[in-house]
Amino acid sequence: MENEISLLIIYTGGTIGMIKDPKTGSLKPFNFHGVYEQIPELKRFHYRLDFHAFTPLIDSSDMSPERWIQLAEVIEKNYESFDGFVVLHGSDTMAHTASALSFMLENLNKPVIFTGSQLPLGVLRTDGRENFITAIELAAATEDNTPLLPEVCIYFENHLLRANRTMKYNAENFNAFVSPNYPELADVGVYIKYNRHHILKPNFKKLKVHKTLDNHIAILKLFPGITPEAVEGILHIPGLKAVIMETFGSGNATTETWFIRLLEQAIQNGLHIINVSQCPAGAVEQGKYDTSLQLKKIGVISGYDMTTEAALTKCMYLLGQNLTPEKFRYIMNLSIRGEITVH
Ligand code: ASP
Repeated sequence: MENEISLLIIYTGGTIGMIKDPKTGSLKPFNFHGVYEQIPELKRFHYRLDFHAFTPLIDSSDMSPERWIQLAEVIEKNYESFDGFVVLHGSDTMAHTASALSFMLENLNKPVIFTGSQLPLGVLRTDGRENFITAIELAAATEDNTPLLPEVCIYFENHLLRANRTMKYNAENFNAFVSPNYPELADVGVYIKYNRHHILKPNFKKLKVHKTLDNHIAILKLFPGITPEAVEGILHIPGLKAVIMETFGSGNATTETWFIRLLEQAIQNGLHIINVSQCPAGAVEQGKYDTSLQLKKIGVISGYDMTTEAALTKCMYLLGQNLTPEKFRYIMNLSIRGEITVH
């Protein structure tokens, strides 16, 4: 059919693709060749749907930068042949994978919609069916022959969110994801209401896929009572290049001399330390309180309102670019895929 919308469904694993084995009664990943039997509603779409399944199918706790690269390569290889992509992924690390992909896919002008579910497709009360069907509809949405969503998104339980603004916050509820620092891109009810001002604009440039990720990174989560040994242990990991430091409130940390000195030495030795908040909502403001002024003075980089997932994956992406320390700091504070609010 001419002008038929074509979508590639990429199945990586996770709960959504599970069905009950009729013989054993246990849950196992289902073969996507039988997808139309599982979800006959798919036949009612007038789109061309093609499927690509990862081998092996994995629980998303086993996701890794290597698998993010494989996923980016599948999208790269099929980019010209399809109008959009739906990625079925476990919810546990969906925000990490989708954030990583947002950085790896530069000049993305087509939708990449991640979805999954809390209950398997093979369970009667599944949330997967609705999530899957709506993700397809979102990936196919166009206006004046241009995709409405030219960015990496997460769709879950009526909410379409920018991937690199999203975190999983509920392990049981169907409504499992939040985007505390950025409005949702669409509200899905009887109508799909697109929040157009908040959706990235296409730039019509050629897709560039970045496949070098450097994971010499650690997360340092502060808590009252943290010991010099614990901080030192992390900062002195051999080969470490960057630390995402999760601080209190608007970017505050202990003012103990030993702590500031350890951080300062590490920065002088070339380590990047990025300050993100343990609070899901709001931003780091280094210098607002005395307890963050020191951090600013010694060269800790503010992560402003970035999620830990976005800071982590942006860091892996930037470290892979072999930038000068100045350029790294500069880009860390720029919004390159809509991941940070810059005033
Ligand atoms: N543990 C599963 C996963 O992340 C949970 C899910 O699919 O939602 O793969």
